[in-house]
Amino acid sequence: MKSSYLGRIAPTPTGHLHLGHVATFWTAFRRSREAGGRVILRMEDLDARRCRAEFVQAAVEDLRWLGIEWEGEPVFQSARRDVYLAAWRRLRDGGWIYPCKRSRRDVAASTTAPHEEEPLFPPEWRPGPESGRTAESPEGTNWRFRVPDGRRIRFHDGNLGAIERIALRDFGDFVIWNRDNVPAYELAVVVDDAQITEVVRGADLLTSTARQILLHEALGQNVPQWFHCPLICDADGRRLAKRTAGLGLRELRARGCQPGDLLKELASLTGGRDGGGACRGLRARLPA
Ligand code: GLU
Repeated sequence: MKSSYLGRIAPTPTGHLHLGHVATFWTAFRRSREAGGRVILRMEDLDARRCRAEFVQAAVEDLRWLGIEWEGEPVFQSARRDVYLAAWRRLRDGGWIYPCKRSRRDVAASTTAPHEEEPLFPPEWRPGPESGRTAESPEGTNWRFRVPDGRRIRFHDGNLGAIERIALRDFGDFVIWNRDNVPAYELAVVVDDAQITEVVRGADLLTSTARQILLHEALGQNVPQWFHCPLICDADGRRLAKRTAGLGLRELRARGCQPGDLLKELASLTGGRDGGGACRGLRARLPA
């Protein structure tokens, strides 16, 4: 009998995959296999200006090359707008969210305090509790989730252990629907993770996890288990992003790296054996 484990691999098709994606997606696949469960492939393609069909194709092809297998056809967030809209209605009816004309730039300008991630939305800018209750559509403005003041959100991470974030200290009211009328990342992911039993992703999303736990609760969903993978950096200690410093998967393939050697080389970064062949000695490292 198959286990009830259901994971997901969730690339954003705005570019080609790099070694950081490989590490995370391989871990997600491996954990689903170890649990005797399944994993789905979900394309996080809500940003129509930046996502491209060619990157979807390339991701599918690269993941197959690595030997990652998923259940069924890929799921596209861009095709699920109605589901996100239904969640927006539930949050509106429950009084969890409010319309907000302030832009991210306004929020950034409101504080001089250095903050690791996003600057905190000043709670004094919140409207009254009834704001937005009668709105028929989210169109025309940002919508924010009202975080419970001072709430400690604690969770167990399968990789990192006990994690804690505090609402209004580590993060403030966050956008769940963008004013260009597109659901925000936090909402879409939580809606899509409703059936997922374990979320495996990069450690850059730990604070997002705290936000997402609040959203899962507000929507009355089961909260999944969490497993955050270490981020891979280039030789200078910078996180891999668009400039992948030779650590893009397409570049590595062109150099002759084979999937098995690449995965061994990745394991060597986290203390395993050295990789082999053309993959040996990648100029990658873990954050200091
Ligand atoms: N789509 C996101 C990324 O490519 C991952 C988000 C998530 O796993 O929740 O970084």
